[in-house]
Amino acid sequence: MKKDPHRTEATLLQHAGARFRVGRGLIGALEQAVTFESDHPTDFPVYARLGNTANHQELEEMLAELHAGDEAIAFASGMAAANAAYFALLQPGDHVLAQENCYGGIHGFFTAVLSRWGVEVEFAPVSAWPKRVRANTRMAHFESITNPFCRAQDVAQICRDVKAAWAALQKGQGSAARPLLTLCDNTFASPMLCKPLTLGADIVLESATKYLNGHSDVVCGALISNESIIETIRNQARLIGGFLHTSACTMLLRGMRTLAIRMQAHTASGQAFAKAMRDFSLVHEVHYGSNDLEKSFANGFGGMVAVAFDRRVDTIAMLEACRFIKNVPSLAGTETTATLPWYSTNRMQSDDEKMRLGITLQLVRFSIGLENVQDVIADVRQAAENSLSTTPSS
Ligand code: PLP
Repeated sequence: MKKDPHRTEATLLQHAGARFRVGRGLIGALEQAVTFESDHPTDFPVYARLGNTANHQELEEMLAELHAGDEAIAFASGMAAANAAYFALLQPGDHVLAQENCYGGIHGFFTAVLSRWGVEVEFAPVSAWPKRVRANTRMAHFESITNPFCRAQDVAQICRDVKAAWAALQKGQGSAARPLLTLCDNTFASPMLCKPLTLGADIVLESATKYLNGHSDVVCGALISNESIIETIRNQARLIGGFLHTSACTMLLRGMRTLAIRMQAHTASGQAFAKAMRDFSLVHEVHYGSNDLEKSFANGFGGMVAVAFDRRVDTIAMLEACRFIKNVPSLAGTETTATLPWYSTNRMQSDDEKMRLGITLQLVRFSIGLENVQDVIADVRQAAENSLSTTPSS
């Protein structure tokens, strides 16, 4: 794939992948057909379930360029992308390290699905990984900005430390082991805020349903990595299905045209919202970004903010009292939304586990949209003030 080092993201978002566009329009035409006539009978077949139409190619080149990766694959959801990576790259007997408090859907996939196929998944804080890594650890899963706590993580250090500890275990082992691969879920950051491949991660996962598409109207996912990893995943994924429909490819391309300016606005408002919540007397704690990582997240921390409200606030009543902020489990659309992770993203975990991780009923995760942020702040303040309970929840 030819890369142009002189193009920055805002320009890539308008032009990358253009060589695959169908027709001579400013945007590529939608390839609705399920299959396509080959130039020659010996050519590799083009079939939508194989994910190799021109619409897929345009989108995948765009994703790869944005992440400074060799190749990308688009899937019908972020979960389909995660499933494809783990099933393609793991074998029974392998060990996986997973960030202790990763997105609930991925947590459920690890515990309810992958564990039945002879893979042991161990959840641990990323700081403990160098001690927990084993000679048979093959993958390490973490998030650049965590869900639901919206904390930015040091991607370079996480990758460096776990790989060094793993390499030390291989010394004197004789035959070359399959390498340990780090997979970074970059959904809350998007390539505008973080490019994990440039910081030492091997694979990037994006739930493109979120910031990449940005308009709450397409479910989609993507993996970005080097040529050989993507080829391994693509070959297996073609036998499983789960590729993105072509109409969703064109919708996603359309959504991504404005990613650069959307992320600037989400970030400015996210920052302003986090500050206003820190100054609000009914707030106990605000989780947003990180004080130490301003250099590696040079464009800021985006629009995801988690707020632990004071025990006097009945958060269920508060979400109902919001005037325009909707209570939805998804995020990263143009409109501000909120959710109680206790009931949504982390629903599948036991109450005890949630409490241990700090996911209480007081925790509300906000996705700050493109409204005037002062209106958003005012809506949350009035909703909290109107939802004070006489018996504080724990
Ligand atoms: N990763 C993170 C951090 C998420 O928040 C989500 C969904 O909310 C996913 C992965 C899964 O993505 P999808 O819903 O597109 O399957």
